[in-house]
Amino acid sequence: MAMLPTNVFLKILGREIPAAILYEDEFCLAFRDAHPLAPVHVLLIPKKVIRTHAELVPEDAAVMGHLHLIAAKLAADLGLTAGYRLVLNCDAGGGQTVPHLHLHLLGGRAFAWPPG
Ligand code: AMP
Repeated sequence: MAMLPTNVFLKILGREIPAAILYEDEFCLAFRDAHPLAPVHVLLIPKKVIRTHAELVPEDAAVMGHLHLIAAKLAADLGLTAGYRLVLNCDAGGGQTVPHLHLHLLGGRAFAWPPG
């Protein structure tokens, strides 16, 4: 039988490695980034295996909308009343290092534009 591809986020989903989990439901998991780039840095991942943004299919619309709703809820729960930034890196050229789609929720400091 072929080995299923795995990665660090699937291992977190499967509780094979620890993470500071903030939220979980049927469709997604949210946990603190291990190398935070802001006072609040949370990663939101779908439970469905989606390698990257460019591979989204129409059936993923609901789960992607759900990720955004949970990001807004977590931002409120974490007190990000001044605003926050959502980042989604796609493939190596976009800065993606973990091959499981994820949304970065960053807050607690000011953010520059354009991004680096
Ligand atoms: P990206 O570069 O968009 O693929 O983001 C991957 C993120 O995953 C980076 O911000 C890493 O710091 C984070 N990360 C990698 N390994 C872990 C881990 N074991 N627990 C939490 N965050 C992680």
